[in-house]
Amino acid sequence: MSQAVVDLIVGGAPRAAAAQFERRDPITGEVATRAAAATAAEASLAADAAAEAFAAWSQTGPNARRALLTAAAAALEARAEAFVEAMKTEIGATEGWARFNLMLAAGMVREAAALTTQIQGEVIPSDKPGCLAMALREPAGVVLGIAPWNAPIILGVRAIATPLACGNTVVLKASEICPKTHALIVEAFVAAGFPPGVINLVTNAPADAGEVVGALIDHPAVRRINFTGSTAVGKIIAQRAAAHLKPVLLELGGKAPLIVLEDADLDEAVKAAAFGAFMNQGQICMSTERIIVVDAVADAFVERFQAKAASLAVGDPREGKTPLGAVVDLKTVGHVERLVADAVSAGAQKINGGAADGVLMPATVVDRVTPAMRLFREESFGPVVAIVRARDEAHAIELANDTEYGLSASLFTRDIARGLKLARQIQSGICHINGPTVHDEPQMPFGGVKASGYGRFGGKAGIDAFTELRWVTIETQ
Ligand code: NAD
Repeated sequence: MSQAVVDLIVGGAPRAAAAQFERRDPITGEVATRAAAATAAEASLAADAAAEAFAAWSQTGPNARRALLTAAAAALEARAEAFVEAMKTEIGATEGWARFNLMLAAGMVREAAALTTQIQGEVIPSDKPGCLAMALREPAGVVLGIAPWNAPIILGVRAIATPLACGNTVVLKASEICPKTHALIVEAFVAAGFPPGVINLVTNAPADAGEVVGALIDHPAVRRINFTGSTAVGKIIAQRAAAHLKPVLLELGGKAPLIVLEDADLDEAVKAAAFGAFMNQGQICMSTERIIVVDAVADAFVERFQAKAASLAVGDPREGKTPLGAVVDLKTVGHVERLVADAVSAGAQKINGGAADGVLMPATVVDRVTPAMRLFREESFGPVVAIVRARDEAHAIELANDTEYGLSASLFTRDIARGLKLARQIQSGICHINGPTVHDEPQMPFGGVKASGYGRFGGKAGIDAFTELRWVTIETQ
């Protein structure tokens, strides 16, 4: 695909970098995108521009910010075809996943627009006579948002929308896997009329990620960092930020359990489990990675789930609409295959999924997985789900919590009081009773516990994350 190079966006204008890198289409191997490979020094220019724009932007009124965010949502939607094309070529996404990404991302920007008038402080009674004491919510400064590739529009937008609503200026650090998709986001915001420097884009070659991100974290104007990505990289970012005592919001990996109890509606559970396990080929932080089903209904559930998985075709998204598209690269295919082989060699049974054809991997189901197997513990981030059989309710909860992660979880029961009691025993930031593990809405407090990270995006929790709370007093006597 021939196309222009994706430049950095600094101070509202494209800026070429001295070097470039390529992202190849995972299916065809052809160059999908050529993008600027920023050095640490070039990346710092983006933070400089954001710093310069902060004074004026932080004073911009909430209704002006709301209008710009509303215009940005429309500008994103106006680029629908370009987003679909970029997601197909950069990550092998299905058209359905690309369009869903755009819809949710536009919703997030509209939610951020609505938040601009909700950034409220309070007046707090003071013990000092005549003293008026206030807690003021103020913009923090420059916010660095670092995004991954798997839900690129949603997560690129999430990294910047609420920070902008709160009066911060931003630098979006694009994923090396989808520089074009992330650049389209910033282009849309710039086209919507955000002043120069309020939103900036940095792209970099994969080998330079550590150095470029490090320089941006170190930049003195950067006051908040949000990172969505793997737990391993999240730890590196948190340590670097800690050296400057800069607050970080971390949205990391997951190993979501979906529990099926003996009184579950099995058809609903099968539907939710298949959606959660195989949407975007299992490359979602909330993906159902473990189905924990109690013995009493295990055989009945497994039979129906296997049939459902077998009905999900995989194919090249350019050749038609199949439920499953490409896995992001051959390395991930190999990782998934090794997890499956390890489980099977230890006694588990692969009950669905044949061999992968390059990055096109069928929906794979492995039954009778146990906590001793790697497939039980390691995030696969691919189209495979482990079925784990539990003796009873207590065993199911114990298995669900037997993981370093804690992002999303689900449980299926017709007894709502029981569902609520058990949901509160699951160690996760998110839990859905009778719904899939994959579920996101812009206004919800989204985030994890344990190795899935800390901090919350979404709604008012997002305001807390991206503002500074200051205590200001006036002495009146
Ligand atoms: P990743 O951690 O490899 O990359 C994410 C970002 O980190 C990229 O922008 C990359 O440039 C940067 N990066 C990579 N190496 C770095 C380094 N050494 N120092 C500094 N920055 C570096 O993750 P990924 O493969 O893009 O995404 C997949 C992971 O993201 C999965 O683990 C998934 O669960 C997680 N994820 C979490 C959420 C969530 O909301 N919790 C959402 C989506 C994805």
